[in-house]
Amino acid sequence: MKRRTRTLLLAAALLCVSGATAALALRSRVTTHEARPASLGVARATSELDALVDVQGPLTVETVVGADWAVATSGLLNLDHPKAKAAGLRDELAPIVIVFHAVQHPTRGLFLVDTGVDRALRDDREHTAFGGLAGRFLHADRLLVRQDTASWLAGRPVRGVFLTHLHLDHLTGMRDVPNDAELFTGPGESAEVGLVPRLLRGVTDQALEGKGALNELRFAPDRDGAFAGVLDVFGDGSFFALHVPGHTKGSTAYLARTTRGPVLMTGDACHTRFGWDNGVEPGSFSDDRPASAESLARLRAFVERHPRIDVRLGHQLRDEAPRVGAR
Ligand SMILES: [Zn+2]
Repeated sequence: MKRRTRTLLLAAALLCVSGATAALALRSRVTTHEARPASLGVARATSELDALVDVQGPLTVETVVGADWAVATSGLLNLDHPKAKAAGLRDELAPIVIVFHAVQHPTRGLFLVDTGVDRALRDDREHTAFGGLAGRFLHADRLLVRQDTASWLAGRPVRGVFLTHLHLDHLTGMRDVPNDAELFTGPGESAEVGLVPRLLRGVTDQALEGKGALNELRFAPDRDGAFAGVLDVFGDGSFFALHVPGHTKGSTAYLARTTRGPVLMTGDACHTRFGWDNGVEPGSFSDDRPASAESLARLRAFVERHPRIDVRLGHQLRDEAPRVGAR
């Protein structure tokens, strides 16, 4: 990796640690990669989703753990929340996973939600965003690859990638994704503001190098007011995008109606099991923490109405004990 990129990453890591990002917020795009409005998707009301969500659907979803890692609890969770305080949570390194979800549509093909980790993270880490000095600040020594995205894909074509948001840990597998896969993000995601997105622009651009434009999903206001927006992505009622701003402006969760019931992929609207179980929103990793709390509350209310929903969180598995950085 270029020295400049390393310096930027290092600066970003230091800023994350110091918590000084809010005071230093600057307006700047997170990537110079082309972004344009997406042409697919039909706006729906939440009541229309509510009526359909428990009906068996045509999709399959496989959640693939790319790597185990560890990051600061204060980034993952609002430690000032009464429930976090009551549980005695402290700011320490918390075990997380980096995942992608493989969504198979019977006629449209294979889509990914987020990207996992690329093979270079396993074989040539020094030449990734996790190499060198920056890697030390990112605790790269605790990042252990379980399965890289290229190995899982094994040459299979990918029709598209739905990015829950544009943070680096959701782009870490992008280089293993075929260049002809269409990319989708939430609205305004590439125009994310703040110093950290600006500092990470170089590595974000690198991750997207050679790919097509970012297609930004176009939500309409949900007439039921339950979500910021609901989009029937393919127009056939099988796969829905839910606008859940807060962690980032364009953060998007996805609901798949599968042959085995509904699956909700929250992205980083909720990183952790504790956050989901206790309704504690993300901490310093989120741009707009009140909005992040509201989006989490909306997702939890949705699942309360539909308890059969299988919830797949941003960075922890609900059916597997965290591996504490796999050590
Ligand atoms: Zn993340």
